[in-house]
Formats: sequence, C-alpha cells, structure tokens
Amino acid sequence: MTQKVLVVEDEPTLLETLVYNLDRQGYEVYQATTGREALHIARQARPDLILLDIMLPGMDGFEVCRILRQEMSLPILMLTARDDEVDKVVGLEMGADDYMTKPFSMRELLARVKALLRRDRLIREEIAAEAGANDVEAGQAPPMSFGDLVIDLARREVRLAEEALRLKPKEYELLVFLARNRGIALSRDLILERVWGWEHDGGSRTVDVHVRWLREKIEPDPANASRIVTVRGIGYRFEG
Ligand code: CA
Repeated sequence: MTQKVLVVEDEPTLLETLVYNLDRQGYEVYQATTGREALHIARQARPDLILLDIMLPGMDGFEVCRILRQEMSLPILMLTARDDEVDKVVGLEMGADDYMTKPFSMRELLARVKALLRRDRLIREEIAAEAGANDVEAGQAPPMSFGDLVIDLARREVRLAEEALRLKPKEYELLVFLARNRGIALSRDLILERVWGWEHDGGSRTVDVHVRWLREKIEPDPANASRIVTVRGIGYRFEG
C-alpha cells in the first residue's frame, strides 16, 4: 500500500524539492504551506507521516504538532531552521518524533522518513500481535501492581487509584519497560534503544521528556519522584 506523506513547508523552493524527492520514492505526497492548511489536509488525508516546518506563517509548527498529537498517532519529523536546543526540547514536548536541521541532505531526510515509517509500522504490528495474543489468553496476563498503580498489560491500560490514566503510546511502553526492570538502574541509552528501538535524534532528551510526563501522571509529588527515581549520571530506576 502506498504510504502517504504530508509536507508542511512555506518556502516554495524547499517545498518543491521535498515533494519532488518524496514523490520519486513512491510516496503519495500531500503539501501544505500554512499550519491551518496542514491540519485540514491531515484530517482529510490521514497521512502516515508528516514533515513539519517549525517556522510557518500564522500558526507555527509547534502548535500544529500539539493539535495533531491530540487527534492522531503518526510519526512527525520536524524541520528546524537552526540547531537550537530550545526548539528541540519544545518540539519533543509537543510530541515530535524526530528533527532535521536545515540545511539537510535530501538523502539523509529520505532515510529518516523511511526509518520512521518502518518503526511506526513495527510498533503497530507489535501492538496488534500483543492484542491478538491477549485475545487468545482472554486477558489472562496478570496486571502488575505497585501500590495504587496498576499496569494492566492485557488491557494495555494503566490505572492510578482505580482511575485509568491517559498515556501516550510511548509513555505506556516506557512505563512497562521500567516496571519490568524494577529496582534496576537503567541508562538513558538502554531505555532509548529498548523503548524507541533505534538511534533517535533527540537522544537522551527524549527519555527525560517522557519520564517527566510520566511522573506528572503517576507520581504523588512529581517534583520529588519516588516511583521513577533519577540515578545520577546513569538514567532512571523504577521503584514501584
Ligand atoms: Ca519556514
């Protein structure tokens, strides 16, 4: 099946180059030059991946990313004008999956697009397989309980004091990985490799940002974390 890619870029020359190259790779390419147009097309066309420029007239890429994240799950590769750490952190918080700083090589960009689409497909297959296995076992997989925190693997649900939490897919996967390795200090690199599965441009920042989100959801006092503790110079340890 042809994969759909939406390119959001307001620079005409770059937009044209991107569309041309993606089209040549066999993707079904959609294009938008403003944030509003991007949202409209994304809702209609349901692309498999979005290339999203940050600096756009009117609504910027961060805002587009934030809104899309609430509505759909797909890889978002952001295009930033400068190698700015602040941009990266803000972008990750908005839910972007990867970054490319302009100017970038087209070959590198196409490789990232391919890798993100492949990763997304693998995750979907894994989730589907897990759901299938769970159907067979009729939800027999025992939930993991840590006080009032329950990770229900069969239902792919996390509850805190009996209330189901709204976790993003990556937050859920991170929590399950941490919980399965309870009491063990895990390095950011290891977490990145096991949960994200490949070399991620955001690097250990990605792990930190997701841990922060998780803490806000599962810690009694996120500022003084007791469930997911920081291991200085290493990474994190799940205490339960
Ligand atoms: Ca721009």
